[in-house]
Amino acid sequence: MKTDIDRKLRDFVGARTAKTFAEVLGIETVGELLRHYPRRYLKKGELTPFDELEVGDQATVNGRVKKVTVRSLDSKQEIRPDEVNKFRRHRTITKVVVTDGRNDLELAFFNQPWLANKLTPGTAALFWGEVTKFRETLQLKGPGTEILDEEDLSEAEIERRAKPFRPLYPATAKLPTATIERSLKIVLDNLEEVEDPIPELVLNNEQLLGLRDALQKIHLPETEKDIAEAQKRFRFEEALVMQTILAQRRAVTDALKAIPRERTAGGLLDDFDARLPFQLTEGQTEVCEEIFADLARPHPMHRLLQGEVGSGKTVVALRAMLSVVDAGGQAVLLAPTEVLATQHHKTLTKMLGELAEQGMLGGADRATRVGLLTGSLNAAARRTAMLDAASGAAGIVVGTHALLEDKVQFADLGLVVVDEQHRFGVEQRAALSTKSGENTPHVLVMTATPIPRTVAMTVFGDLAVSTLTELPAGRSPIKSSVVPAKEKPAWLERAWERVREEVQKGHQAYVVCPRIGDDVKNATDEEGEFASGAEEEAETKAKPRPAISVLQVAEVLAEVLPDLRQAVLHGRLPADEKDAVMSKFAAGEIDVLIATTVIEVGVDVPNASTMVVMDADRFGISQLHQLRGRVGRGKVPGLCLLVTDGWPGSKSRERLDAVASTTDGFELSRIDLENRREGDVLGVAQSGRRTSLKLLSVLRDEEVIYAARHVANSIVSVDAELTGYPALKAFVAEALASEAAEYLEKT
Ligand code: ADP
Ligand code: MG
Repeated sequence: MKTDIDRKLRDFVGARTAKTFAEVLGIETVGELLRHYPRRYLKKGELTPFDELEVGDQATVNGRVKKVTVRSLDSKQEIRPDEVNKFRRHRTITKVVVTDGRNDLELAFFNQPWLANKLTPGTAALFWGEVTKFRETLQLKGPGTEILDEEDLSEAEIERRAKPFRPLYPATAKLPTATIERSLKIVLDNLEEVEDPIPELVLNNEQLLGLRDALQKIHLPETEKDIAEAQKRFRFEEALVMQTILAQRRAVTDALKAIPRERTAGGLLDDFDARLPFQLTEGQTEVCEEIFADLARPHPMHRLLQGEVGSGKTVVALRAMLSVVDAGGQAVLLAPTEVLATQHHKTLTKMLGELAEQGMLGGADRATRVGLLTGSLNAAARRTAMLDAASGAAGIVVGTHALLEDKVQFADLGLVVVDEQHRFGVEQRAALSTKSGENTPHVLVMTATPIPRTVAMTVFGDLAVSTLTELPAGRSPIKSSVVPAKEKPAWLERAWERVREEVQKGHQAYVVCPRIGDDVKNATDEEGEFASGAEEEAETKAKPRPAISVLQVAEVLAEVLPDLRQAVLHGRLPADEKDAVMSKFAAGEIDVLIATTVIEVGVDVPNASTMVVMDADRFGISQLHQLRGRVGRGKVPGLCLLVTDGWPGSKSRERLDAVASTTDGFELSRIDLENRREGDVLGVAQSGRRTSLKLLSVLRDEEVIYAARHVANSIVSVDAELTGYPALKAFVAEALASEAAEYLEKT
């Protein structure tokens, strides 16, 4: 069923432009171009506020020229505008200062001295390009330019510019916004009927524009209302496609069967509770009850357990696993890293004591075994662990995520617990059903990074969420401070003194670095990207130095703290060496552990009181919060020092101040989400060219998402295959295809 939107773009805009579209934006069809929405709109006469620009943005701005200077890069001389023609063949830099009425923005053009005579003070123009930073000032380097009030224009051009709103597209130097705008005009003028993925009835009920109308209005609006209505429609459409996919998936998972695992009294779980050295918090008890109720149902549980770092998720998971073992099943615990899997294995074995010594001398009557399966086991250990899993001797198996893809067989897998991996989505769940025949195991996902309700709903469908809000009593507070190393070098020295003092008190410390530092050539030492302007280039290259590495810090600390026992830990060490280091640290035989983020999650050494994070600004908020959770886990008060070169008031410094000011993970997660782009929040679900989330915000558009979900549910409940909704079906298929493609890329 070929419609107009499947036509090749080159039939409308000519081969050369079409080629540029394909190269620059990956746009080849009319449909794809139509879905390249304006980023924002320029109201006639309006200047873009420059204070909304951010480094890295592809921005189009409207500014008025204040000042122009041309300099020769060879003689360093300033060149007068009436002399520029003489310098056509010289290396020059033209700096243009433009204003939005309040703030200034600098533009830098290389080897185009004649621009000084076009961009004369007072000229209004559009400029587009990437926002960069040069010596603390925002800059557009070699931007595209379109002078707005030039005279001798063609009639079409005058008409185009006279429009009350000009769409501004995510543009590049090769494909200016004006070209995109012109191409869209041609395409829209020739576009006939388009099939609407939103059913007519829904359009009426939700008061949405039809597709043809909405396309016209989003690209060539006449009024502000046009823009708002068109965006509303496309937001709904995006939500509808996504919710339809989720509704279909729910229909599939609702049909899945699981073996009910009822909680039985007088089993391992009761024995375990009896030997627990502490009292469960109220929250832990409540969440366990919710989980037991889920486990007793004949459908697979899919529950997310969110809980602050140190809130005691592990014991909740262990109780759930024991109750499944009591009911005759097995449970696996998946960790994101080998270090963490090994840690978990140790923790569980220790907590269970004789209850984990089935078949061993001194093992309890009702004991089970806890197996460990990681990639780095030797062949014999691996075989034993595989046998224990297959025979059912191991009630609990701990491993990394690779466990699911492996050939590991279970006698009766009843529960999968996924630690610190809230992205455990549909694809991973699908892999599970192959592990246990026609029944699917129950799934419990644990995370210390809270996800907003709408994200949980959007990405995972209906995911049940439990939250642990309180920390176990008697937890010592963590004190955090920012150490501005550049501004106050003495503070860094003081930080190392603090580490020494803590060790003298019998405690231990982590020093975390963003990089290992054993790479031959540093990836950040890349070539400068500007062919011309040697001087400017030299200055630009003085940009961020490479992040400090574990190996560099190890060298420094060997000198600064020579009397302390130190070791390094990072992902590229051989597995047995990692284990050895971690064991020695846990046993108190190492004072200072210099590590990458391999220690980020889960590592539990209560005697570690201090953490120094080097180049802390290179880490995200959640990551810092996670890292910090490694200290203050016992009776010892924790101390976290965030070392940075960032200056007060800078964005990165603000983030660190936020981390230092609160240990409330939910508050930090909120700050983090505001700062992050949503793509990061969504992960795989946000992809696809024609159908991805371009206008919909899963954080802001909660109501739209709820409304769309309602519609999607009613459609899918009567027509799961979408036979009666061919256009919607096509969108869904495309979204799924690109999602799958992206997922494959990521793995
Ligand atoms: P997280 O939620 O970050 O994974 P853990 O499960 O590792 O936290 O728990 C952190 C520490 O708190 C562990 O040493 C654990 O034994 C301890 N713990 C858990 N629950 C309680 C409790 N109710 N009372 C006291 N300590 C607890
Ligand atoms: Mg944990």
